[in-house]
Order: sequence, then structure tokens, then C-alpha cells
Amino acid sequence: MTDPLVPAAIGIPLAFLFGALIGSFLNVVIWRVPQGLSVVRPGSACPECGHEIAWYDNVPIVSWLVLRGKCRACGTRISARYPLVEAGAGVAFGLVVAGAYGGLYPAGLLPALLYWAAVGIALTLIDLDHHRLPNAIVLPSYLVTAALLALASILTGDYIRLLTATIGAAVLFALYWILAIAYPGGMGFGDVKLAGVLGMLLGWLGWAALIVGGFSAFLLGGLVGVVLMIGGRATRKSRIPFGPFMIAGAWIGVFAGEAIADAYLTATGII
Ligand SMILES: [Zn+2]
Repeated sequence: MTDPLVPAAIGIPLAFLFGALIGSFLNVVIWRVPQGLSVVRPGSACPECGHEIAWYDNVPIVSWLVLRGKCRACGTRISARYPLVEAGAGVAFGLVVAGAYGGLYPAGLLPALLYWAAVGIALTLIDLDHHRLPNAIVLPSYLVTAALLALASILTGDYIRLLTATIGAAVLFALYWILAIAYPGGMGFGDVKLAGVLGMLLGWLGWAALIVGGFSAFLLGGLVGVVLMIGGRATRKSRIPFGPFMIAGAWIGVFAGEAIADAYLTATGII
């Protein structure tokens, strides 16, 4: 980032704290959205005894540690996943902001990337838990992502990227749609819808991010599938949710798309 508003030594820790707070909300999203419940009301309560969780017991990461992973009222164990999601969101936000300081992408793209840092965590855990990617999250993400990418273009003055974003959305949506029709047991329509919106984000960054991000999903999915089969945790027939690989692949495209594409083109003697 040229001439940043705040130095990295302040900006990155602030991003971590903001991410941890968002992570606390993501825990609510991950728990309630698949059940079709409101994420706003009622306030958080212990699922065991119904005791309402006070604000001081709802401080990200810290409260779980202070309470040593137990409900204050009834002592029921609270899963370590809650503080891990909060810490994970904090780290993700920190990395995304660090990427802008490192010049990997313009700072104007940060709102879109931070949105996807949050949504990516929620969709990953919901897909692992329930083997689906809820429309309630994926469909509004088209509008939010389009708006945040338009904002990024306004902030950077780079409007041609809105065209490549549109092409990226169409290409990945079409590719996954074909796969879903060709292998009905493998890819679901939830994956097709997610592919379109991820393609929009990657397309804004450029062809390298789009191609590397798109391929990485299949590479990661294949690798993990083989490891699970070797470990006896899966068979060729196992239904492994693909959303987490699409999201992880997209992040490889965002952070390393340019570098991987350059290395590939150089190694193959194309440039
Ligand atoms: Zn309780």
C-alpha cells in the first residue's frame, strides 16, 4: 500500500480484533442459518440451560478462556470451536489486511475481501456440518460482492475490472454447471451458485487469480480426497463437501494467483 492511512503495525492488529468480533457473529450464523433461524434475535443463550449470555461472557476468545470452556450458569462444556472460529476470523482479517500492505492487491479491494474472509469461514463450516451452502448466504452475496467490487473500482479508478469480474462469474458458474450436470453425484447446485460469486471476486483481480483460484479448488479437493482414502476415512463413493475447497482455492488465487501464474509461464518457457 502506498502511503497507508495507518501503519501496518497498527492496522494489522486492529484487523485481527475486528475479525475476532466478526467471528463471534459468525458462530451465530453457522449455528442458526442452517436451521432457518434469525441471526439477530434472540440474544445468545446456553443451548443446555437457556441461560442468557451476558456481554462480558461474550468477549471473543477471552471469555471462553476465562470461563475455561464452561457455561457460567450450568457448567456445560462449550465447544472449543467457538473461540477457534473467533481466532480464525481474526487471523483471516489480519492476513487480508497484511496482503494490502504487501501490495498484493489494492487497498480499495479490502471491503470485498474482508466480506469474503467472513462469509468463507461461515460457508466452510456450514458445508462441513450440513453438506450444503445455504441460499440465504450465497444469493445475497452476489449483490454484496457486486456492490463491494463496484466500490473497489471507484476507489481505484479501474473500471475495466468490473468487466473481467462479470466474465469470471459467468465462466466459473458455467464450468461448475457443466460439471454438476455431467457428474450429478459429485457437484451440487449449491457449488454452482458459489462458483459464480467466487468467479466474480477472482475475475476482478484478473485472469491469473481466476485461473489459479479455479484450478486450486480441484487440486486441493483431489489431494484431500486421496489422503482421506489412504487414511481409510473415505472411499471413492464418499460425499466430500466441495465448498471448502472452492473457498480455499479462491484464497490461493487472491494471494498467490499472479506469482503462481508467473512461475508457471516462466518454467514452461512461455515468457
Ligand atoms: Zn448453561
